Amino acid sequence: MGKHESVELHEKYDEDGETDHPKCPRCGAFLAVHEDRKTCGDCGFSEIEK
Ligand SMILES: [Zn+2]
Repeated sequence: MGKHESVELHEKYDEDGETDHPKCPRCGAFLAVHEDRKTCGDCGFSEIEK
């Protein structure tokens, strides 16, 4: 997957000061953080937390 794309997204993080907010690896939208998982409202991606 593209590390270079991530760098671009990180620049936007810094403007908001929310560097720890996860983003969707698939489409780049912010992920909704739940107790045990993160989900993307845009493309339906979900990531289970351990
Ligand atoms: Zn997504």
